[in-house]
Amino acid sequence: MLGVIKIGRSSIIFSNITLISAKQIFFRNNIVTMMNFYVFRTTSEPVEVTKVSYKHRECMNCGLRPLGRVGSISIEFSSRHQYSDVSWSEGIYLTDNLFEVLYESKIIGWRKGELDVTVSSQIKNPTNKYSELIIIGRTQDYARKMGLALIDYCDQCGYRKYEYPKHGLEIPLECWDNSDIFYIDEFPGIPIISEDFKKVISKNNPTGVKLIDVSEWRPPSWANY
Ligand SMILES: [Zn+2]
Repeated sequence: MLGVIKIGRSSIIFSNITLISAKQIFFRNNIVTMMNFYVFRTTSEPVEVTKVSYKHRECMNCGLRPLGRVGSISIEFSSRHQYSDVSWSEGIYLTDNLFEVLYESKIIGWRKGELDVTVSSQIKNPTNKYSELIIIGRTQDYARKMGLALIDYCDQCGYRKYEYPKHGLEIPLECWDNSDIFYIDEFPGIPIISEDFKKVISKNNPTGVKLIDVSEWRPPSWANY
């Protein structure tokens, strides 16, 4: 692959470049684009979950592990600090207006999940309609590509826990499935978004979310123990 990037009046001719400092260059629809990724971090107070059920399978070797949620989730907004465009608790919830924007902007890597919402009388004139943001984008072959250290492993059920990096997450383009929002399989619970998704967020400025450059990310206290 050969291409030319124009930076000011000078041009750089390159071939097979995948990484330039933290930013990456790639081709999408034959247009050269600078690519970076961001952590999609919710900032509002978590809403109350009034109904949710999980199905579990019991591993005789390592114990009980959640397998997945069954059915839809019920939530209740009881304070203004929860009632933002992006909200969360057991999942991430967005207003239908925001979903509309994602859809129109051709943002991929998600689907809409049903949500049962109750709003307390503390919130005056509640006009938002919410659905759950279900993130379906996933990295591929990340552990091997990044040489992650395995810190826990169960040979009965296949459970694996990897050591989180001390600072900064890297997303090699080879591991990216082209989704605008995705999870790294090995590090669950950290939604990551593309440059295109960031543009949509920056233009619409929804409340309840902050974007963090992946290079600035630090692991939460629970991550390494
Ligand atoms: Zn197990």
